[in-house]
Amino acid sequence: MISLYSGEFLGLSVKELMIPSERVAHVQVGNSLEHALLVLTKSGYTAIPVLDSRYRLMGLISTPIIMDSILGLERIEFEQLDTKKVESAMNTEIPRINVQSNLQSSLNLLVDNPFLCIEDQSGIFEGILTRRSVLLRLSNEVKRNYRK
Ligand code: AMP
Repeated sequence: MISLYSGEFLGLSVKELMIPSERVAHVQVGNSLEHALLVLTKSGYTAIPVLDSRYRLMGLISTPIIMDSILGLERIEFEQLDTKKVESAMNTEIPRINVQSNLQSSLNLLVDNPFLCIEDQSGIFEGILTRRSVLLRLSNEVKRNYRK
C-alpha cells in the first residue's frame, strides 16, 4: 500500500495533476448568458471558469446559475439570455488554489467541489484540478503498490 504519510502522494504538486488552462473550456465576463449556455451545453460540463480579458480568474458559471438568473415570476424569460452578461450572474465566491500548492492543501476542498480553479500569484488562471484526476492518480498509485 502507498503510505499517505510518506509525502509521496499528498506532496504531489497540483501543477502535475492539473488540466492546463489551454484545455479548459471557459467564458469571459463580457460574454452573454446565451454564449455561456452554449459552451456549457456543447462541452457537457456542469460549471466552467469565467475569466477577464487578461486571463484572470473572476468566478464560475453553471447552467443552474444561468437558469436561476432568467427566472421570472411566472415563466423562464429566455429573451434575457441575449442581453444579460456572464458577470451579472456568475458565482464569485469560489475556492481558489495556488499553482505552487500541493495536493494535501487541496484535498479538503475537493470533498465539496468537483473541481478547483488554479491561479498564479497575480490571479492569472492556470488550469483546474478535478476530483477525477486526483482519484485516477490515487487509483494508479494503489495498483502500482499492490504489484510490488
Ligand atoms: P470530471 O471530474 O472530469 O467529471 O470534471 C468535473 C467538472 O470539472 C466538470 O463537470 C466541469 O465542471 C469541470 N471540468 C472538467 N474538465 C473540464 C474542462 N476541460 N474544461 C472546463 N471544465 C472542466
